[in-house]
Amino acid sequence: MAREHILVIEDEEDIQELLRYNLQREGYRVSLAASGERGYQLICSEKPDLVVLDLMLPGMDGLEVCRRVKQDVAVRHIPLVMASAKGEESDVVVGLELGADDYLTKPFSPKVLVARIKTVLRRKAREVQNEECVLVREELTLDPVRMLVKVSDVSVDLTATEYRVLHFLARRPGWVFTRQQIVDSVKGEDYPVTERSVDVQLVGLRKKLGPAADMIETVRGIGYRFRE
Ligand code: CA
Repeated sequence: MAREHILVIEDEEDIQELLRYNLQREGYRVSLAASGERGYQLICSEKPDLVVLDLMLPGMDGLEVCRRVKQDVAVRHIPLVMASAKGEESDVVVGLELGADDYLTKPFSPKVLVARIKTVLRRKAREVQNEECVLVREELTLDPVRMLVKVSDVSVDLTATEYRVLHFLARRPGWVFTRQQIVDSVKGEDYPVTERSVDVQLVGLRKKLGPAADMIETVRGIGYRFRE
């Protein structure tokens, strides 16, 4: 099997080295770029399998790199994992909404980084399952065609909006979604959904899910995710 190619865009030399060492040890081929401009060039010319993208870069910052990549049909499929400092949650939210796949908060352990990269690559390989498939996640079963939900074989009565939110999250376990992304996934329906009302939906949804409520996790400062 060809070794997967990971591009690291990071301006701090010690973090570059830490990433290079640990990723190479896992068998990945690693390229480095110390600026957003250089990183973007390499994304376009080399088309790596995954990019680790620092958000705070001199010149073109990480969000701008993300924006350009996601607007370019030739490279927009390449997964981006953002590396952010503590306190940059609002940038992470923007990055996720631009289409970045995941993020890590510095300082992160090499073990966690490698695990997240493997997860993102695996998800990309699987991509999203057919919209019409029945989803089974531990004790939870979702039937999209009939909009039926069961927890441990007991039917749960959800509103249409609660169902859509649950289905949206459960289709991609482990992915973090911002409130805006959740709004976008359910809007255009019977009544307007706002970012605030997403929290209200989630409270109602968790209550109805009972023992399965903890499958939906709140990600502080970012949004929600379905447990992996
Ligand atoms: Ca930096």
